[in-house]
Order: sequence, then structure tokens, then C-alpha cells
Amino acid sequence: MPHLLGIDIGTSGTKTLICDDTGTVLATATADHPISQPRPGWSEQDPQDWWTSTCKATQAVLKKSRVKPADVRGIGLSGQMHGSVFLGDSEKPLRPALLWNDQRTARQCEEITARAGGREALIELVANPALTGFTAPKILWVRENEPKVYARTRHILLPKDYIRFRMTGDYATEVSDASGTLLLDVVNRRWSDTLLRKLDIDPALLPRLHESPEVTGTLSAPGARALGLAPGTPVVGGAGDQAAGAVGNGIVSSGIVSATLGTSGVVFAHSDQPTRDPKGRVHTMCHAVPGKWCVFGCMLAAGGSLQWFRNQLGHDEIHAAKRRRVDPYDLLIKEAEKADPGSGGVFFLPYLTGERCPHPDPCARGGWIGITARTLRRDLVRSVLEGVTFGMRDAIEIMTRMNIPISQIRASGGGARSPFWRQLQADIYKQPIVMTNATEGPAYGVALLAGVGTGALKSVEDACKRCIKQTVKLTPNRKLAARYDQLFEIYDKLYDDLKDRFREISSFACG
Ligand code: ADP
Repeated sequence: MPHLLGIDIGTSGTKTLICDDTGTVLATATADHPISQPRPGWSEQDPQDWWTSTCKATQAVLKKSRVKPADVRGIGLSGQMHGSVFLGDSEKPLRPALLWNDQRTARQCEEITARAGGREALIELVANPALTGFTAPKILWVRENEPKVYARTRHILLPKDYIRFRMTGDYATEVSDASGTLLLDVVNRRWSDTLLRKLDIDPALLPRLHESPEVTGTLSAPGARALGLAPGTPVVGGAGDQAAGAVGNGIVSSGIVSATLGTSGVVFAHSDQPTRDPKGRVHTMCHAVPGKWCVFGCMLAAGGSLQWFRNQLGHDEIHAAKRRRVDPYDLLIKEAEKADPGSGGVFFLPYLTGERCPHPDPCARGGWIGITARTLRRDLVRSVLEGVTFGMRDAIEIMTRMNIPISQIRASGGGARSPFWRQLQADIYKQPIVMTNATEGPAYGVALLAGVGTGALKSVEDACKRCIKQTVKLTPNRKLAARYDQLFEIYDKLYDDLKDRFREISSFACG
């Protein structure tokens, strides 16, 4: 029986997954790799560590699943987006890779925006504004600060594409991950010659572009040996982790949107058109579905806000949970359930680490507003859940204004473990919330893409229809949804009311 292998090069480690051509997962494995912060705000990894963890996790998943190397029909690659690998003439990178969360490039972002002719002109060219995490500003930083490295650079690759190079010898990428470089003409799905010219970057440094399910090459003899696989096994384009995770959750047709409450929160929508937000609050990128796009917004402290509450103010729950051998989050949620909807007029602003969507503002700060002498602790917990969910609704509102149809929201991430938080999402988003059987994320998504690229599965849409099934569906409570509508209106104004104060506070606090 043919099997499919998905490999996801994450920030903390590499995850591998093997499934059969009906989408049934046989085994998964992970292997960690280190991260370094050589200076405040810098974030780097050695790409050779990714290769080591990929080899380990691939050998482990083969062993666990007992699948023979010859029965692996295709391989899909996913990975952390935006990271930049600078390669010269050998397979050893010229310097460590700069990662998605590296913050050193604020000045280069300003320069890119200026060279493009302003923020709107840049969004017109590449569908997104310049953000410090993206690849293009990293290229400018290396050119400026490490000219000797830049002079020796022959290829600039994204994390998963460096792994592809080690597997197959090819310098190739695909459109979903390339969208996060800020160098892709997202509308036309090709490198932006115009922006490359304006930034004076040689197009020859960039890899060949493919659609996500296309076969980009086959395993070389040394690549196959290191992984424990068969030479000649096809490798498909794969996808950046956002698009790959969306395929793995079935977000591949119009109307289906995902809301992921992890440490950060992401709302992700499929789009048949390359619709852009002129203000650049949500990202428009190429989807892993050929000829389609996606729009997504990322809030920084979603589950992270509840985690902060647990760590700083949830000691009662932490101790009780230890005694009763349950999860402290479950006890916090029970506390929240005791409070009334609307938390007695208390609002929580979830901008604990600044914000990205809908307010791209590193100075934004968190806080509670509306506390009275009658406020109970349970109101504070509930207001955190409500505030985070309002933050996610902000992204949904922007998408609605962009005319992106939404008929169903699929909940995932740690926050979706709680039935209470799932229902709260249905009530605040005013949309049915659906859970699916697919919980493996990006590695599963690219395994399906490998199935499509090698002919085991018909199309991305068909693969998702066959393999991903709805398990739970919650509908909004009409009365509560109407009440939350009114509360959201107030919430939505609070950031604007306070943004100038946030700036003052952050400059004061930072000295
Ligand atoms: P990450 O994004 O770091 O991979 P997860 O997707 O596991 O992490 O999400 C972690 C977050 O999910 C936590 O910070 C917490 O807010 C939330 N969470 C985890 N477990 C629960 C639970 N049982 N109930 C509600 N929220 C939870």
C-alpha cells in the first residue's frame, strides 16, 4: 500500500507523520533542535540542526509505523515561514538562519517601504506590508551588516527549502511559503521583478517557484541514505506552516475559516480571489491550493493571555489541579463559567506582547477596564477569555469587510480543548463552530499534498473531503450572540481610545 510522509520543520523541532492514501495516520515522531538569541531581539538557528532533527524524526517515524522505505510514495515539506538561509557554493550555510521572530530589521522595513514608494504601493506589489519577521528585510540586513557573507551568497532559501536542497539537491520553493518573503507578486504567483529591482536584489539568488502539490524533485542517493528512505522518492513543493496547517484542517474552499487559539491566535480563510486589505492588517498570501489564495490575521497573545493569568494569578488552580491531578486550565475555565456573560462589565485587552492584527503596534499593552467593587475573580478570568475571543473576532470583521465569505469556523489549538471556550467562540463570532478528526496540523497537510502530487489523491480539495471529517458542531446562542455584539462594539473602541497612552507608557517603561 502506498504511504505518504509529511515533514514539518517547526521552531522548536521537526515533526514527521506517515499516513496511508486514505489519510489514516499510522505514526508521528518529533526531534528537537536548538534556538539561539545571540542579542536581544535576535533569533537564529543553524540549518544543519534542522537537517539533523529531520533525519532523526524521519528514521523514527519509519520505525514506529513499520512502513518500508520503498512504500513511501511521496514526501511533503512544511516549515516555519520567513526564515532566511544564506548559502554559498557548499551545502553548509554561510551564517545561521535568521528566523520569523527575529526583530533586528525595523530600519530595513522602513527602507523597503520607502523604496517601494510607500506602504500602499508595497501592498500593491506584494500584497503585504514590511514586517520585521519577513525575509526581504533580513536580506537587506545581511547585505548591509555582513557584506562579505552577502558577496559569497549564491542562494537564499526558506527553512523547509533548505531541507529540500539537502534531500534532493534542488533549489526550489512553492508559492505559499514564498508569499512570506515579501518578494512574491502574490496576485500573479511569481517573483516580483519590480520590487526585486527596487531593492537591488539579484533574482538569481531566489529558488525556482512551484505550486504546492507539484513534484519539485526526487531524493538523491545521499539524501535518501541520511533519511533512511529510497532514492528517487518524489518530493512535492509542500507549504509554509500556515497554509499547510490549513490544508491539514480542510480550509481549502470558500466559506470555511479556521480559528486557532494557541499561544498566539490565528484566523485563516481560504479565498478564491487575491483580496487584499489596503491597510495590511491581515496577510494575503498564495494558498497551497493551486490558483487560490488565503487571508489570515495573527494576534500575538491569545492562549498566551490565559497562560499569563494562570501563571500570575492562578496559583489556587495550579495547586488544586496538582492535588486532583487535573489540568489547571480546566479549573480556570470552571471559574469563568460561574461568571455572567460580559463578566459584569469588565473588559480585558489582550495586547500583552504588543499586537499584530488588527493593530500592528508593538507599544500596545494589555489591561482590564471596568472593574468595580463588585467585580469577582471569576469575572476577571471570564473577561480574559472574552477579550481574547473579541480579538479574534476583530480579524473576522476585517475579512468580512473584504467580502470574504464565512459560513463555518473550524476551531483548533489548545483553547479549543475547552467546550466552554468553543461555545464562547460560536457566540462571539456568531458562526457555527466545528471540530474535525484532523489534529496533526502542518505535517498532515503536506502529507496530503504529497498524495495529490504523486497521484494517490485527486486534488487538494478532494483529499480534504475524503480524509477530514466533522466531529462536533456548535451553533451560536442567539441571545448571547446579540449581547456579545453590543459588548464587542465597546471593546472595539478601547484600543483607539488608549493607543496614545500605550505609546507613552511603553516609552516610559522602556526608559
Ligand atoms: P502552542 O501554540 O504553544 O503550540 P497550544 O496550541 O497547545 O500551544 O495552545 C496553548 C494554549 O491553549 C495555552 O496557552 C492555553 O491558553 C490554552 N489551553 C491549553 N489547554 C487548555 C484547556 N484545557 N482549556 C482551555 N485552554 C487551554
